[in-house]
Formats: sequence, structure tokens, C-alpha cells
Amino acid sequence: MQNLWNDNEASNYKDDLALRVYTSRLLGQEPALVLHGGGNTSVKSTAINIFGESEELLYVKGSGWDLATIETAGFAPVKLSILKQLAKLQKLSDLDMVQTQRSAMINPSAPNPSVEAILHAIIPFKYVDHTHADAVVTITNTANGIERIQQLYGKRVLIIPYVMPGFVLAKQVYTMIQDIDWSQLEGMILLNHGVFTFADDAKTSYTNMLKLVTEAEDYLQTAIPTDNSTPVEIDLLKLAKLRKAVSTVRGCAVVTKLNTEAASFSQRQDVASIATRGPLTPDHVIRTKRIPLLVNDNIEDYVTQYNEYFARNTDGQLTCLNPAPCWAVWPSVGAVNFGRSYKEAGIIADITEHTIHAIAMAETLGGWQALSESDIFAVEYWELEQAKLNKSGSVLQGKIALVTGAASGIGKACVEVLHAQGAAVVAVDMNPAITEQFNQADILGMVCDITVAEDIQNAVDTAVRQFGGLDILISNAGTFPPSLKIADMESTTWDASMAINLTSHQRLLTACSPYLAVGIDAAVVMIASKNVPAPGPGAAAYSVAKAGQTQLARIAALELGSTGVRVNVLHPNAVFDTGIWTEEVLSKRAAHYGVTVEEYKTNNILQTEVTSKDVANLACTMVGPIFAKTTGAQIPIDGGNERVI
Ligand code: ZN
Repeated sequence: MQNLWNDNEASNYKDDLALRVYTSRLLGQEPALVLHGGGNTSVKSTAINIFGESEELLYVKGSGWDLATIETAGFAPVKLSILKQLAKLQKLSDLDMVQTQRSAMINPSAPNPSVEAILHAIIPFKYVDHTHADAVVTITNTANGIERIQQLYGKRVLIIPYVMPGFVLAKQVYTMIQDIDWSQLEGMILLNHGVFTFADDAKTSYTNMLKLVTEAEDYLQTAIPTDNSTPVEIDLLKLAKLRKAVSTVRGCAVVTKLNTEAASFSQRQDVASIATRGPLTPDHVIRTKRIPLLVNDNIEDYVTQYNEYFARNTDGQLTCLNPAPCWAVWPSVGAVNFGRSYKEAGIIADITEHTIHAIAMAETLGGWQALSESDIFAVEYWELEQAKLNKSGSVLQGKIALVTGAASGIGKACVEVLHAQGAAVVAVDMNPAITEQFNQADILGMVCDITVAEDIQNAVDTAVRQFGGLDILISNAGTFPPSLKIADMESTTWDASMAINLTSHQRLLTACSPYLAVGIDAAVVMIASKNVPAPGPGAAAYSVAKAGQTQLARIAALELGSTGVRVNVLHPNAVFDTGIWTEEVLSKRAAHYGVTVEEYKTNNILQTEVTSKDVANLACTMVGPIFAKTTGAQIPIDGGNERVI
């Protein structure tokens, strides 16, 4: 492990807290030390209060902050004397701990102090660093882990047997350090949990952390697993069905993140046994649950076993969490992680990737052994842990959408609205700029020529592989062919319009149908045109294709209804904020009719301008719960048109 301390850079951080921020971030950027909010750090310092008195404070990482990105505002300033006094109590409830700590803060708007604040307070050094280093935890999570740790570090570390984090852990350490010789110690190893280091200067505390962890990594050098997996074809429909089953149990849509790097692990003969012994550290359980689902097992059995686990361990006062698995081991393929958002699935994927690696190493060290079920349960159902999770969600949270013609106009607006409402989106367009356009992890831009069937199949398969399924299709891509009367129609114009404005929608619907059928409240919106109910001369190539597209949607509504898929049609008209309607074209058209641009844009019954965003808002409402009981409908969005009405 590389020591990232840099004297030059450190010299920019002038005071105690600023240096604390600096080394906290150094720890935070190393995933093998801490992952997603894991670990915590502190510094003891003084501040002058409003009465001019000097107060001793512990600045400790606030709950909800991440070491990788922490700022000074992320540290809770708590009066040190109060924290030290708390350590002397025989008992302390979580509620009393949180309340006393909050009332001992000199800044009431600071975040809640870390659950380990008392432990940080009683370690008699200025800087205290705590991580859940993979290598150290891996060694302790083996049958004879304690002997291995003793053998590795000798008397340089204090070994703390596992107890529940929070007050219980602080109390245990408090008892063990009463007459200890700190001068010998480089740190503390908390079995099945992590490492503490400490010093009166930031550099030594950080350096000791790196030193202890590097020694553990060196110890594990010969245990690093080799990848001897054989590649396998992924059954995407099976993935979509798995996601549907997990979403159903969880009571809300989830997005998946596939980890095929775990193929080697998943191809082991003993995978069912080693994958289901427990997590790397109890800290992970709120995100991963105690054990994963095995994909070939029945999800109902997983749920039954979860409910039994709850019943065995509850004190009768707790409410059972949703029993859905947070990740699954897919024998031969790898691992699948489930999140309410792609971001959450990614966090779980990071944690399970580290877990899988640790399990494989521990197996070569005599066998992976996680904490007991009751220890894990205590942390999973610890209110202070559950409080770390953000449980909010938007109307399309966890939904997976595919939009064609997504680089501009209505398609682009649909991508933006779907994403704002919580969906993960595959944005498809011919324009190569699409791959960079949205720049969000949960919007995948794909170049695709929708007149090529293989391109379409590839886009749909990629969507399912990336996010786990398909719930929403907005079939939008189209073109305006040159205006020609039937008498003058060129076959190339006609054929091109049919290919893009009609046949591509059929190809797309055909490719999407198997996945939509196992989607979550799946819905299709076809973006057609006012030209369907109210055609005009000179637009046969366009209007006939759009009428065909509408008929395709009506038949799809009939055919897909039994699988729960809704298909509705939107007929926009005169949407001028798209690429083809430049200011110049608009002025010309307005002049042609002898009106101003403004009058031209609002030439409808309501005398209102229809924008791409208006169409997108309606399309996204139609794929949402408000239209849950409507299929086969055609809705105009044109400001009102006499011929349509
Ligand atoms: Zn910890």
C-alpha cells in the first residue's frame, strides 16, 4: 500500500483540523482501507468560546460523511470532557449517547458525531485514524485469525476481541487501556472489524496505519487468488427475471450492476458454502445484508430464510426490514448487485467485490469465518446504522428506460426528465456525440442506426446488461422527409421514410418485448404526429409511416397487455425547439404565412408554444403510475388543433 503523505502538500494545511482533513482524504481515497462512508478519524484540539475561555474539543468525523471527500464542515466538534465522562458510565443507551453528544457540540448545526466518538476520545493522542482495512479484516476472519495477528504484529498492537461498535466497544477498550504502556503500541486491531492508529502528529498516525496494513497485505501475498475462470454467455432474460423477482420482494424497482470479474469465484465448487458465511465487516451489513442470494436457488427460499433469521434474533420490539437480497452470486457468471439507483448498486458492487476477494484469500488461509449471525444482526438492526441510509426516491426511481433519437429535441428532453425522475436511461442516437452528451453514470449513451436490426438488438441487450432489465421504451427517433406530392414521389424518399419512421419502431418493439414482459409496470410511448389524425398534402411519405407506427402501437397494446405492458401514442405538433427549426427557418416560415415568429409558433387553439420539454413531461407521465390503467390511447400535444378535435 502506497504512503500518499506529501510534505509539500501537507504544509498547505495550517491548523489541526485542516491537517485532519488532509490525511482523512488520503485514507479515503484507498478503497482497500475504507469504502463508502466506512472508517472514521478525529483530532483533539482547542477552541476559544464566546466567553473567551479555551475548550478542549474532539473533532470527529460526522455521520454521513465520506473520508474521501470530507471537509472541515464534516467534523463534529464535541467537548472532550463530556465524551471522556461518558466512557466511565456502566451503561448508555443509543438515544442517550446521541443526545448527550449532540448537546456537547459547540456547533449545533454540525453533523452527528461518528458512533465511535467516545472511543476516539479515550485514546490519549491528538490524531486517531480508524479504517476497516481489507487485509487486516481478512486475516482476522479466519479460524485462527487471532493467532495470525499475534504472530504478525507481536506486542506492537493491542488486540480487541469483537464487540458491537458504539458505546460497548468504547467501554471494552476503556477497560483494556487502564494500565497500558502506550509507548510500545503502533495501533489496535479490532478483530472482525478494523484497525486504529494514533499519534500526536497527523503524519505518524497516518503512516502507522499504512505500515500495519501493508504488513497484513504482505502476509497475504501468497493467498492472492488467480483468475482461472472460463468466460460464459450471459442469459440476459434470466438477469431481467432475477431483477423483477428481487424488485417484487423489495416492493420497489431496483437497478442491477453485474460483476463478471467475480466469475472465477462464482465458478468454484464450494461457492454456495463460502459465499454465504457472512460479510467482511459488520459495517457492510446495512448495504449487503448478511448473505447473498444464490441465483439458481429459489428467491422465496431466501425470503423465508431471512424471515426466520429475523425471528431467531429479534427481541420482539424490532420491525423486520424488507427481506430482499442486496446482491446475488450467479454460479459461473459472477455477482449481481441490486440498488434503488445505479449509484447504490455501484456502492454495493464495490463492497461485494472486496468481500469476494477477501473470502477467496481467507480460504487459502485455512477457511473464511465471518462473525456469528447474532453479531451481524445486532449491527443490521442498529438504528444508528440504518440512519446512514438515504431512503428517498422519485416517481420513476429504479426504473430502466430506453429512448431513441436521444441526442436532441424531444428525445433529449425525455432522457432528462426520465433521469430527473429517478430512472436509469439508455440514450440511443445516430449522432456519435451521444456517448459523451449526458455524462452521468446512470445514463448510457449509445450510437445506433435504428434502420439496422443488429444495431437495435445490440442496444437493447446492452441496456439489459448494464442496468438489469427494461421497463420503459420511448420510441421517438424519426425524420422529416422532403415534401413531395404522391404524383412526384421518389421511391428513395418513400422507402427511407418507411425504414426510419415505421419499420425501425417495429424492430425495436420486437427486440424489447421479451424484456418489457418481465419489466416493472412496463410501458411504451410511441412519439407519432398530428399528421396521423390530420394529414396534410405533400407529406405522404411521413404521414403514412406515422399512421403505420400508430397502428403498430395499437396492435402492440392488444398483444402485450396480458403481460402488463402498456402502449400509448403521443401526437405532438409544431415543436419548434428542435435542431431542424433554426431561427432562420422559423423566420422564413413565418414570413411565408405573413405572421411574426411568435404568432407562427403559437398558431393553435390555446395560442401556446409547445416545447420538447412539454412533450417529454407528458411522455414521462404516460410511462408512470398516473397512466397505470391506460393502454392503446392516442393523445395529442399540439396546443389544440381544429382538425384533430
Ligand atoms: Zn469501524
